[in-house]
Amino acid sequence: MTINRPDSQEPPAFEADELFGLVAESAGLIVMVWELPGNSIYLSKRWSVPIDRSSHPTLTTSSQFKRLIHPDDRAGLNAAIVRCVKGRTDLCHTEFRIRLLSGEWKWIAVRSRVVQRDASGRGRRIEAALIDETERKRTEDLITSQNRILKMMTAGSELEETLTAINRMVETQCKDALCSILVLNDAGTQFAWGAGDSLPDSYQHAIYELSIGPDAGSCGTAAFRNEPVAVSDIATDPLWAHYRELALSHDLRACFSWPIAGRAGQVLGTFAIYHRQPGMPTDRELRVIQLVTDLAGLAIESRKSEERIRHLAHYDELTGLLNRAMFSQVLSHALAQAGRNDHQIGLLFMDLDRFKNINDTLGHYAGDQVLQEVARRLRSTMREEDTVARLGGDEFVVMVENFKEPSALAVVAKKLIEQLAMPMTIEGREFHQTVSIGISTYPGDGDDLQTLIRNADIAMYRAKQHGRNNHRFYSAQMSAGSLERMTLEAGLRRAIEQNEFVLHYQPQLHIATGEITGVEALVRWQHPEKGLLSPFKFISLAEETGLIVPIGQWVLQSACRQLRAWRDSGLPPARIAVNLSARQFAHDELLSDIAVALRRSGLSPDMLELEITESAVMDNPGHAIRILNELKAMGIHISMDDFGTGYSSLANLKRFPIGSVKIDRSFTREIPQDGNDAAITCAIIAMAHALNLKVVAEGVENDDQLAFLREQHCDEIQGYYFSRPMSAEALEIFMRQHTAFKESSAHGALVKSSRR
Ligand code: C2E
Ligand code: MG
Ligand code: MG
Repeated sequence: MTINRPDSQEPPAFEADELFGLVAESAGLIVMVWELPGNSIYLSKRWSVPIDRSSHPTLTTSSQFKRLIHPDDRAGLNAAIVRCVKGRTDLCHTEFRIRLLSGEWKWIAVRSRVVQRDASGRGRRIEAALIDETERKRTEDLITSQNRILKMMTAGSELEETLTAINRMVETQCKDALCSILVLNDAGTQFAWGAGDSLPDSYQHAIYELSIGPDAGSCGTAAFRNEPVAVSDIATDPLWAHYRELALSHDLRACFSWPIAGRAGQVLGTFAIYHRQPGMPTDRELRVIQLVTDLAGLAIESRKSEERIRHLAHYDELTGLLNRAMFSQVLSHALAQAGRNDHQIGLLFMDLDRFKNINDTLGHYAGDQVLQEVARRLRSTMREEDTVARLGGDEFVVMVENFKEPSALAVVAKKLIEQLAMPMTIEGREFHQTVSIGISTYPGDGDDLQTLIRNADIAMYRAKQHGRNNHRFYSAQMSAGSLERMTLEAGLRRAIEQNEFVLHYQPQLHIATGEITGVEALVRWQHPEKGLLSPFKFISLAEETGLIVPIGQWVLQSACRQLRAWRDSGLPPARIAVNLSARQFAHDELLSDIAVALRRSGLSPDMLELEITESAVMDNPGHAIRILNELKAMGIHISMDDFGTGYSSLANLKRFPIGSVKIDRSFTREIPQDGNDAAITCAIIAMAHALNLKVVAEGVENDDQLAFLREQHCDEIQGYYFSRPMSAEALEIFMRQHTAFKESSAHGALVKSSRR
């Protein structure tokens, strides 16, 4: 290719050179020649970019050209030119933005060279190749914006802010684009909100709650179909039938909408570009959109998971009520305010009655449904401004502010109890779930969170003790007992872990033969500080807390093992008696625990006697009879302990498959002096014998008692008279002495305890 180099006076010949223009253009170049003396510039003719010269007919001087350059880039360009002209360098590479007639800016990269200098070395003529770098720059911008948006997301910016930045990014990239992002509600049925501040406010708000559907404008349809919808003319497209006027009244003519999808492919919202002129999306728009819908999806989804995490941190997943942590926050806040304003706060602490039964008998799924139903009822019974929370398990709490008298809390408690007691249907079965409520108030019952909750809990416990399904207000007396109880409970748990229990044994003596027939195992707690503790100190708490179950298992195993050892060394007791509590009785594993204890010790079932009390079996007599019958069928002996203290019912002696009755110590104590006790003792013996039951008198301490019992044909005695309960080792010595003494004395003589 020949280029006619223009000389300084003539206009450059190549301006007319079609070929040059073509070649330059096909290489994506614009050639420029700048004659410094005349300050005129010449550009290759086919200059469609960056500026249409035909519409700039006067563009012949460099100063006119400079005016088209972005103000921010002028200084840099000038400095580069000065360097070349002054002869410091021939080559110059620089970049600048130039304004098109449309107002758009193009990025131009310049590679220029000084091709002529005058005698003093000043540049006379510069030739340059201009390259349109707009596309590359835009891509760079896109990457920078994208990175900025990703940073916004990780820095925890508001979602609206992030989405607005995404819109802005597209608007700078795509000419005349007005962007909008709409976010669907959780159900995915309608838009919930959006970001699009380039659109007129009134338009934006009108579309925020739009329902999606097969013909719901571009966005509603795109979300509905989960595919892009491009409407080139809103004025005619049927998809816009319902929204046409709205859009046209805001001067919007074209709208292209893309679904924003989550990772699982579900539609989270839509991204849309509006134009004020009809038309189809440009290639550039299509390219950018792919990127931004991904970005928007990421932003919406990560916000959703953050919200979910936040929700889980504050709410109970099963019931949707506040959880313990959040409730603590709300209560602390309310306490601080109440302190300033002299207000009262009431806490109603609730624990479902016998909820464990539902879980145990119907399974956890049913249990969950009950908890959900309870939560619903609590919520609907309480006022909007009251706070309802689930503290865990079957424990709920309600905080009431703004009440005048504590009696108002009692009214609330009664209402809750009433509502919960209404039948609920779970898996087709009708239930009555009752609740026990403890109430504490601020400032009367404590001024901090822990104290108030603890005291309400204590009061709730009292409500349980008073027959459940009722409420109790906290009072200071409750606390004293309760602290002790808590310490004791913690101690008991530790004792189980550390094996601090020991068994003492008390022999039973056959009155007529003087033989040791059996031995009762009586548990004690070898407390590290308090020494040996009597069962009276801890059995009832162990019962309440259920800890009696593991303790009872241990007793059973140890007692059986002990009898095995005695039998192996030729000692007399034919049988070992173990006390069973009501709680153990209700425990499913009772039968298998017993079977295991027998198997491990190798005892035959008739060597084991189980002592039950009337009250233990009367909780659920049907169940008790079934279990007792099974035990009896196994060959195990059952005796009715402490008879006379509870129901003392003859009918019970008949109903339950027992083999013997133990007369409670409270009757034996005053015989024979106390006529009443003597009469009762006689009646029990007669009644038991009539039913073919063996009678054992407990708590026999002296000759008179023994003489009376012998007269009444009581079968056996147990008491200090013969022997106190003692350790296995001590009893072993005692039994050996007893056997030796018995053999050497007259047959049937009664040996007194050597310890008396
Ligand atoms: P219990 O089953 O009626 O046991 C008899 C209690 O009377 C024992 O008290 C025993 O030491 C006491 N005793 C026996 N003879 C006399 C006497 O002549 N005079 C007096 N004053 N007391 C006498 P202990 O060992 O303190 O046990 C108390 C209760 O604790 C037992 O009454 C029993 O109900 C319960 N218990 C003991 N060990 C266990 C156990 O392993 N499991 C369960 N569930 N309860 C147990
Ligand atoms: Mg007993
Ligand atoms: Mg007893």
